[in-house]
Amino acid sequence: METGYIPYGRQDISTADIQAVVDVLQSDWLTQGPAIPRFEQAVAEYCGARYAVAVSSATAALHIACLAAGLGPGDRSWTSPNTFVASANCAHYCGANTDFIDIDPKTYNLSITELAKQLEAAHHRQQLPKVVIPVHFAGQSCDMAAIAQLAQTYHFTTIEDASHAIGGQYRGQPIGCCTYSDMTVFSFHPVKIITTGEGGMVLTNRADLYEKLIRLRSHGITRDPNLMRGLSDGPWYYQQLELGLNYRITDIQAALGFSQLQRLDEFVARRRFLADRYNQLLQSLPLILPYQDPNTNSSWHLYIIQLAEADLIRRHRSIFEALRQAGIGVNLHYIPVYLQPYYQDLGFSHQSFPMAEQYYQRAISLPLYYGLTESAQDRVVATLKEVLQ
Ligand SMILES: *Cc1c(COP(=O)(O)O)cnc(C)c1O
Repeated sequence: METGYIPYGRQDISTADIQAVVDVLQSDWLTQGPAIPRFEQAVAEYCGARYAVAVSSATAALHIACLAAGLGPGDRSWTSPNTFVASANCAHYCGANTDFIDIDPKTYNLSITELAKQLEAAHHRQQLPKVVIPVHFAGQSCDMAAIAQLAQTYHFTTIEDASHAIGGQYRGQPIGCCTYSDMTVFSFHPVKIITTGEGGMVLTNRADLYEKLIRLRSHGITRDPNLMRGLSDGPWYYQQLELGLNYRITDIQAALGFSQLQRLDEFVARRRFLADRYNQLLQSLPLILPYQDPNTNSSWHLYIIQLAEADLIRRHRSIFEALRQAGIGVNLHYIPVYLQPYYQDLGFSHQSFPMAEQYYQRAISLPLYYGLTESAQDRVVATLKEVLQ
């Protein structure tokens, strides 16, 4: 059997990926060259979205998506507590506030029932969110049709945080198609489905948002005379129309992303195979295995188990530690965001979102990545069985 440390996730880089990067290094452009639009167009086409804007990270993507949605001081953005901090932080970058919607105990995504209830209450208080950021946790889509209906009723902008979910589907359509949202964000961090080292992307079908996103990515500057105030001074001229950022990705990264995208279906197929295999190997253990909504087809960024018995739940931490000690790189996705000291200082308190906290006390992410061998997976399962006894 496989020995050595098994991480919870890792990238897979082929010789074609390496060559793609080398080709850019030997070309005329290291950044702002042809590799970026090629990568953007390829992702947009894969997902069936009209526009794509590649940026330096998903965090940057979430930030400019919130800015493009007009989020500013006094506004509110809502997201899931069961996510990486970036899904909530992006509102604060814009001077807005965040609130959370507790999770559905089956899917671990934000609960649609709870969202509907909180929207109704916020409507009466006249404190509706301007933006809602559903997170497709572990690669499984939220119920986007239901969210789209609520967006129509309550007039919020929907930004899908699909950092986990490129390659997944919802109701037969690729995640990223933006049929049920205004924008979708992907992450290309090395633990995610495909990687550019660091990198992210915003997809949208709306031309107005696309124009804003392009400008916000690069200082708020345009070189398009049609968008300028007054006339152009000449061929050197550009105008800064608003306060943007430097969130550009490089051609080096975009070339890696384009090459990785050619392997996306293969990556996801392998993850699905390994997830199915976990399902079979773990079925007789006292665990809750990942529920899959029949409307979704997950990209399986994460494979999460929950401890199902009271004595095991009490031993959650020691089970986790024993697995790490045995070289199994388990992880925990996620510490409820509002329990972070930064959010506690903003006034959030323990037990505000009981489902997210209950989940946090029971969950363990098992290793899952393209290069995970079956023998390594067998070792994860054997070690887990031992530790649970
Ligand atoms: C990874 C991740 C992010 C941030 O992605 P970066 O590319 O590292 O900025 C945001 N949201 C979720 C849900 C993530 O998993």
